[in-house]
Amino acid sequence: MALKVTLTIDSELMQKIPLSKCLINDEIRAAALRAVESGQYILGPECKAFEQELAAHTGVAHAVLTSSWTLGVFLLHQAMGLQKDDEVIVPSHTAFPSIEPLIHCGARPVFIDVDDSYCLDVRQLESVRTARTVGVIPVHLYGHPADMDAVMAFAARHGLWVLEDCAQAQGARYRGKTVGSIAPMSAFSFYPSKNLTVLGDGGFLGLSIPELAGQVRMLRNHGRKEKYTHEIPGYNVRFNEIQAAIGRVALKHLEALNEHRRTIAAHYRRRLGNLVQTPVEQSWARAVYHMFVIRAEKRDELARFLKERGIETGIHYPIPNHQQPAVTRLFDRLPQLPITEKIVHEILSLPISGELTLAEADRVCDSIAEFYGNP
Ligand SMILES: *Cc1c(COP(=O)(O)O)cnc(C)c1O
Repeated sequence: MALKVTLTIDSELMQKIPLSKCLINDEIRAAALRAVESGQYILGPECKAFEQELAAHTGVAHAVLTSSWTLGVFLLHQAMGLQKDDEVIVPSHTAFPSIEPLIHCGARPVFIDVDDSYCLDVRQLESVRTARTVGVIPVHLYGHPADMDAVMAFAARHGLWVLEDCAQAQGARYRGKTVGSIAPMSAFSFYPSKNLTVLGDGGFLGLSIPELAGQVRMLRNHGRKEKYTHEIPGYNVRFNEIQAAIGRVALKHLEALNEHRRTIAAHYRRRLGNLVQTPVEQSWARAVYHMFVIRAEKRDELARFLKERGIETGIHYPIPNHQQPAVTRLFDRLPQLPITEKIVHEILSLPISGELTLAEADRVCDSIAEFYGNP
């Protein structure tokens, strides 16, 4: 009898806390079912409405749904005319996909370091520019907006394009402006861990130039505007109705879910500030905490300790992109980036999502305090 009681308590304590959790409710289920039964599955009315709602929410003229961030940006680079040996400035500390499409176009990533909010260090932009530089990809990493005024001023000075990587920051604001609406081009992801998900892969491009949006729409759908006339060879990078229906519900809840992430982040900051280094929120930023990334002594031991207590953590990302085999094999001139190379050994992503409860966040904090002998 006594044994049984112990087991019950243990299983309660071991209730797993995942790194992130998707929004799934009856409204989502009903929307998916509605699309299932509509008889139309690809680029139909749900997709059209979702594109309009995304454009309105982001504050861009054109939103073009694609099957992922990566493929959307691949099409966009082609439509922009990105050429072999063009140079694109990008922070090394980002998800690998940020640089994949440009490599496929034969262009070269020129890596820079990050500042104390883990976004590109804008003070390094001038020093890495060459005659071959064509553009910049600022990444709003972990949901924190990059210093866009500095990026836009640099680009304007030298006639460069800017593409905002908003994959982790949908709904974040920079000096009151929603990210993705600041540069003429932006790209978003609906991958299940992202702030807005469609319970599958997907993404969209935010574009202010109508010709570019038209070109990407053609490339997305076999190079055609009309059913049987193919103007150019294209691809299949389309979006589907079931996921658009799910995404439309998720978008209605995005602001509230992001606000909840901010509440969790404030709670973590309050409780963990004396134990580990918590993330900085710059004066210009309304961050949306795609990740809550701490810097911790004995990071790997801490991660193991938390795992034993059913708490999932992550490292985003353990290997800097300028040291990835796929990159070092291709390019010989690669920089040393001391901050990026240092932080990969210290960063740890704690559980956060629109669905994480304050009680769960408290359990994470209790365990971290316990680890540092400070219960
Ligand atoms: C997730 C992510 C991507 C890639 O998005 P996909 O939709 O998975 O292709 C690109 N950049 C960043 C910063 C990301 O986090």
